[in-house]
Amino acid sequence: MYNNFKILYHQGKQFIPDVTTAKVPGIFRGRPIISKVEIDENKLLALCPVDAISLKPVSIDLGKCTFCGECAIRFPEKIQFSTDYKISTNERDNLIVSEGDDTPIGINPAKVRTEIHKLFKQSLKLRQVSAGGDNSCEWELNAANNVQFDMGRFGIEFVASPRHADGIVITGPITENMAEPLQICYDATPDPKIIVLVGTDAISGGIFAGSEALNRSFLDKYPVDLYIPGNPAHPLTIINGLLDLTRKVKG
Ligand code: SF4
Repeated sequence: MYNNFKILYHQGKQFIPDVTTAKVPGIFRGRPIISKVEIDENKLLALCPVDAISLKPVSIDLGKCTFCGECAIRFPEKIQFSTDYKISTNERDNLIVSEGDDTPIGINPAKVRTEIHKLFKQSLKLRQVSAGGDNSCEWELNAANNVQFDMGRFGIEFVASPRHADGIVITGPITENMAEPLQICYDATPDPKIIVLVGTDAISGGIFAGSEALNRSFLDKYPVDLYIPGNPAHPLTIINGLLDLTRKVKG
């Protein structure tokens, strides 16, 4: 018994008391900060493997970015990645960060459907669909529910059946083979329901964008309620995004 107490004492707290203010290590790549320093912009443009960088002004689309860090390594005077993990939003355009713009990324309350706050504020059950995912975002979604991040304390949990869900969480670039199962899952989820995209692959197709093996027509049919970027998305990005969407918690 004494040994058990000793182990518990040395382990300390297993959970993060406040997931809205938690700090992450400096190596984490969150919201980029782009300075107005002049560089050879064409070289910057050419090095991005997923065309996430645009010019005039220099900007990075976090919906496409794989967070490989190459641009920040090659042009540290121009681009740095901060540890700000609160980068989820309900507006696709908010994922585009431009030079000189240090506005935090967040939810636009005016664009949140009224039933989301009304019905899902206390409890939100989600069905996860890995639509050609590589299991990285799926792991992070699992981690969001572990004892450390403990998303369940906010009443946000994953369920096995779409019939018990309030919405679907999509990971992966949506392959042709997963297009129909995704549609079946969506149809089986009762209204009103939300759609959440987690990770670069789900938001833009990522490195698979434009591939004939994808069928992303599902996203043309329904509005997306929340974009959670990352490659993979961090559990704190996931939890804060869902909290901000459902509970009006400011980031
Ligand atoms: S970190 Fe993002 S924007 Fe920079 S090179 Fe990699 S994919 Fe492109």
